[in-house]
Amino acid sequence: MNGEPDLLIGGTWRHAADRGTRDVINPANGTVAAVVDEATADDARDAVAAARAAFDDGAWRATAVTERAELLDRVADLLQRDKDDLARLETVDTGKTLAESHIDIDDVTSVFRYYSRLVGAEADRIVDVGDPAVISRVVREPIGVCVLIAPWNYPLLQMSWKIAPALAAGCTMVAKPSEVTPLSTIAFTHLLEEAGVPPSVVNLVQGSGAALGTALTDTDDVDFISFTGGLGTGRTISKVAAEHVTKVAVELGGKNPHIVFADADADSAIDHVLTGVFLHSGQVCSAGTRLIIEESIADDFVAELAGRAERIRIGDGMDPASETGPLVSEQHRAKIEEYVAQGVSEGAKLVTGGARPSDPALAAGSFYLPTIFDRCQRSMRIVQEETFGPILTVERFTTEAEAIALGNDTQYGLAAGVRTSDSARGERVVRALRHGTVWLNDFGYYTAAAEWGGFGKSGNGRELGPTGLTEYQEIKHIWHNTAPTPAGWFKG
Ligand code: NAP
Repeated sequence: MNGEPDLLIGGTWRHAADRGTRDVINPANGTVAAVVDEATADDARDAVAAARAAFDDGAWRATAVTERAELLDRVADLLQRDKDDLARLETVDTGKTLAESHIDIDDVTSVFRYYSRLVGAEADRIVDVGDPAVISRVVREPIGVCVLIAPWNYPLLQMSWKIAPALAAGCTMVAKPSEVTPLSTIAFTHLLEEAGVPPSVVNLVQGSGAALGTALTDTDDVDFISFTGGLGTGRTISKVAAEHVTKVAVELGGKNPHIVFADADADSAIDHVLTGVFLHSGQVCSAGTRLIIEESIADDFVAELAGRAERIRIGDGMDPASETGPLVSEQHRAKIEEYVAQGVSEGAKLVTGGARPSDPALAAGSFYLPTIFDRCQRSMRIVQEETFGPILTVERFTTEAEAIALGNDTQYGLAAGVRTSDSARGERVVRALRHGTVWLNDFGYYTAAAEWGGFGKSGNGRELGPTGLTEYQEIKHIWHNTAPTPAGWFKG
């Protein structure tokens, strides 16, 4: 960063092979926040080779689980020690508020603590095969070399969901953050070294997915690819990996319904719908971007919501007064503007937003106003596609069955919210929704101890929880006969 080498390959920090660099832009003001090394495909190949050699060497995977658990705890301690610095990096890189970045670093810490405890408590499974001479046991072993690819919206958080279980399992790895937001991951990789992660166990490259993707995925040297990002990229990586029969877990986008029944507590419903969609300017995979609301309360609810949306304080994430920051880049804002134009042309009713803020103090940043479209139809692109920005669409229903049908009418299936004071109905609806996480009378919360992942085209893997560790493990059955005798099948 800023002249220091940023690629960690085979235990050595180095610059890119061609000395290429990239300017990392602060989206709040358009200035260059840092200059980082931009890896080449050769660098990525070196990183995979280093991770392969370190895994095949066997030393890391043979470490006692207690040793790995202690290492994860040391990482957690260092994260807390450097929390303020890491949070600042996350804010200048992504634009999110400093308060959100602090929460992110606490969450990253809890992921390391969780996997430290979980891996320490793992036990082999003994299978009774009916012969006292045979010890049959099922053991878990590290899956091998992992490629970990993360997006830009929660750079360190998403990466930690991968690195923590991969380390806990005894894997070696190559981490690739988004080219747009590499800063916190670079700083964090230095912490991993300080915590005592052996050389070559964690390798770090940053650069564009297009430039590095083939080197990272089109190879027999990788055993598992964990990818979080968009549907199109997930498809590309899955196809490439299939040629090598490499296991892939893709964690993709969402188009998440937030269903509000007329009997829901109004104050908390409005507040959670607002936060659910406009937090981090809607750049959240589980953002509740589709409000599905009972017709009888819809007009008043939407009016109240629009008033609240107009009062959201937008600004530089470093300013404590800001409640939400800019979009991550000018390029991303242009995409949001296209979606808004599309919504208008498709006939949705623009209730509020739909423009850049007029405040001249925000002119240099990639800011966009919280935007609400009412009277939306399921066929509209803004209803079906993940906009990944501050855009809420409103659809109305009159029956419970209609609400469920609308909630499931998406190619995605990442997350959903349901709000009602009728708990029996609430339970019926949450079971009927085909989404990986469903909140009943809440929205957006998660814990390191519970699985996260999607149904449908939101992905095929699970992160966090016990399954988030088993993704990084192979399962081996060991049949040990302590008193061998001839099989006796062939008589000659
Ligand atoms: P993206 O464009 O798909 O990029 C994700 C990562 O993949 C980035 O590191 C990107 O690198 C890399 N990449 C791009 N092309 C690649 C290729 N051919 N081979 C290997 N890697 C490649 O997604 P994004 O725009 O960063 O992230 C937004 C998406 O992530 C949204 O759809 C959001 O819903 C999803 N997301 C899902 C979850 C979840 O838990 N399901 C969580 C967070 C975000 P570069 O950036 O360097 O090009």
